[in-house]
Amino acid sequence: MQQTGELQLVGVSKRFGEVVAVDAVDLTIPGGSYCCLLGPSGCGKTTLLRIIAGHEMPSAGDVLIDGESVIGMPARSRPTAMMFQSYALFPHLNCLDNVAFSLRMRGMPKIRRRERAQQILDFVRMGGFAHRMPAQISGGEQQRIALARALITEPKVVLLDEPLSALDEFFRVQMRVELRAMQQELAITFIHVTHTNTEAIATSDLVVVMDHGVIVQVDSPIQVYDKPRSSYVARFVGGHNVFFGRVVESKKEGDLIELSNGERLWAPPGPVSTDRRRSFAVRKDCMTVSRASDEPAKQWEPFHKVEGVVHAIEYEGTRFKVSVILNKEEMIVALMTHRDFMASGIDQGDPVVAWWSPEDVHVLLED
Ligand code: ATP
Repeated sequence: MQQTGELQLVGVSKRFGEVVAVDAVDLTIPGGSYCCLLGPSGCGKTTLLRIIAGHEMPSAGDVLIDGESVIGMPARSRPTAMMFQSYALFPHLNCLDNVAFSLRMRGMPKIRRRERAQQILDFVRMGGFAHRMPAQISGGEQQRIALARALITEPKVVLLDEPLSALDEFFRVQMRVELRAMQQELAITFIHVTHTNTEAIATSDLVVVMDHGVIVQVDSPIQVYDKPRSSYVARFVGGHNVFFGRVVESKKEGDLIELSNGERLWAPPGPVSTDRRRSFAVRKDCMTVSRASDEPAKQWEPFHKVEGVVHAIEYEGTRFKVSVILNKEEMIVALMTHRDFMASGIDQGDPVVAWWSPEDVHVLLED
């Protein structure tokens, strides 16, 4: 199947008075991919989506879909369709007429547009709900109707603004699987705005992480999760403990870094700031916690451990989340398997050592 809907943003900026909501963004999203724009509130995700949809004019830059600029083209003429957070269904129209609405605006005869709307309703598995009113269906069902309404115009690019935020946890997981399956079947581009890291990682081919109007990393979900570029991405995407310190000794094979509590840790070579500070990350699930009074295990490599006190232990069903306070300000988290946790015999308040393997140290490129 041909993949359509390649999106290119070239130097796109948007200012609202003094506020720079989007700052010289360059991005290419291959046709037929599922892309998530991920970032905290206010980082410019929605503004970027609205610029692509044609609901907002950029202050500078160009937006191209399949190589053609859409700047200056009104929203309704663009090969895009937007699905809003609130779903924005017309309360006085039944599901079929909600879905058929944009074809009515385009002047398509009633029989044909209803036929087409029914096909799309069947596609989103809502065929039996055609004559229900929006108030008579659940949030998850409303979401499918909203998606059907976006798909009926046969867009090349579907824009989804926080599409799952109104659903409870169970339906959120179910719907994100369904959205992904529908996108793959249609082989068009989906651009999904979210501030939830797990949603971005689970659904997409491409994750775009934003911070203050700029893109800070564009990668596959695996790369973004496993190899965050910076401490910002590592913290936002989660799953990592980030360490900061000052380089006190440099060798060809790496640096010794002193933390604020005086502990010294080792990291492979990486960028050092002008004041000799650098940072690195260790995945929470690559960390093990042992009682400090235990015989030092052989696997405790020098400079690959920190000492602290167990602050909290939470059972998450498949693993234990152990929070360890290092000093007044710093805390790290280890995610331990059931077996490792039971073997450790640790309890809240215990002095402990958290340790990791040298190969699990991930260098962060920026501070
Ligand atoms: P959220 O997840 O909360 O929706 P976001 O990442 O989508 O946040 P935007 O809504 O794009 O962020 O906003 C980016 C910045 O631009 C924010 O500082 C916001 O206050 C500002 N902004 C957005 N729209 C306008 C506007 N119409 N006028 C003035 N400032 C705006």
